[in-house]
Amino acid sequence: MRFRSSALATVVAFAFAHSLAAQSIADRYRGDANRIIDAALKDSTAWNRLAEMTEKFGNRLSGTPALEQTIDWVIARMKEDGLQNVRGEPAMVPVWVRGEESAEMVSPRLQNLPMLGLGGSIATPPGGITAAILVASSFSDLTAKAAQASGKIVLFDVPFTNYGETVQYRARGAVAAAKVGAVGALVRSVTPYSQRTPHTGGMSYDSTVRRIPAAAITVEDAEMIHRLVDRGETVRVKLTMSAKTMPDAPSRNVMGELVGSAKPDEIVVFGGHIDSWDVGRGAMDDGGGVVVAWEAVRLLKRLGLRPRRTIRVVGWTNEENGGRGGQAYRDAHKAEVDKHVLAIESDGGVFKPQGFTFTGSDAAFDILKQIALLLDRIDADAMVKGGGGADIGPITALGVPGLGLNVDGTRYFWYHHTAADTIDKLDPNDMARCVATMAVMAYIAADMADPLPRSPTGAP
Ligand SMILES: [Zn+2]
Repeated sequence: MRFRSSALATVVAFAFAHSLAAQSIADRYRGDANRIIDAALKDSTAWNRLAEMTEKFGNRLSGTPALEQTIDWVIARMKEDGLQNVRGEPAMVPVWVRGEESAEMVSPRLQNLPMLGLGGSIATPPGGITAAILVASSFSDLTAKAAQASGKIVLFDVPFTNYGETVQYRARGAVAAAKVGAVGALVRSVTPYSQRTPHTGGMSYDSTVRRIPAAAITVEDAEMIHRLVDRGETVRVKLTMSAKTMPDAPSRNVMGELVGSAKPDEIVVFGGHIDSWDVGRGAMDDGGGVVVAWEAVRLLKRLGLRPRRTIRVVGWTNEENGGRGGQAYRDAHKAEVDKHVLAIESDGGVFKPQGFTFTGSDAAFDILKQIALLLDRIDADAMVKGGGGADIGPITALGVPGLGLNVDGTRYFWYHHTAADTIDKLDPNDMARCVATMAVMAYIAADMADPLPRSPTGAP
């Protein structure tokens, strides 16, 4: 009898273990995912909270009191929400101050040119620079016209193809123009659509090349100047900028946690960047990224869904003009990078979610793909390889699997880095879907029996 009963127990135990192993992610988590989605879709707290945050403090460039006040506010609210280990972790950030600035076409006629200096640019001399425009349609076009560039302001009139490609003119245009002897650089704003709104953004210098001031003008004015020049007119522009770079200042990565029930030292980290450019109110770039992750954690708490591992929501600082927050996070958490099972970033706007972009091993991709399938009800189940985010880059480079929240990007670059990045462009229902998408992914990744397979170290 003893033998038979123990044999039976073995058979039962084996069958049970086998059924657990065979139980798919869909079977195990479909119910939880549906509860999360149902609750998220009934709730417009994310939109309301983002409206409050961005309208109370305004935009949040690194080094400004508004950024630090926003971080204090997030800390206070996360504590009220009952998040655990709420804190700000220090990071030193660059401080760039725009100052007064303007651009004006002075011939063949007078016309004001709406403009924004590029982040990191130097000032012009106090009286401004007045010079003829040389139009370049690409870097190679500039090379072909190099002999004509001396003493001119180069205007890069390059139509938007995709952000990664077109942003090169904003980022590197000043260096290319200075190399051929130009005294200033103007770029056509990096956007597929314009209502004569200039778009700012970061630029960089090269220590071996003379520094010249750089600014963005609107698509409409770039095209007009280009046509005037093509008709044989000499276009002269007066550019005046007083921008300056100050010593680095202290800021913080802001974070709070839902501590795991079984493996609290293993972490799913997710969020967005809390800083913004100094125009608009940084609603979609990227206050929304921070708020949807924060709301995801609040929702899981409310539903009593406490995963086995810890979920940590982070608002990284200084993504826009330095990336120091992402680096400081990696450095502060060096000892526990191996305990990070997944990093998720939202920095493409909080429009209707479509799924995620992925960086990591094929084995992790296959598992995350199964989780994403639980988002099919809200059409957010697409998982595509390539991409992640700037703030999680430093830890995905060390082998942590990374995801970027992927949304309908149709309108994002219309408003990106402009005075028009305000809450009214965002839809509460889209944001609620982003909360659901972030919450389902973070919860299941944090709760699964086995951690996700890591990437080969040094993977991009
Ligand atoms: Zn951003």
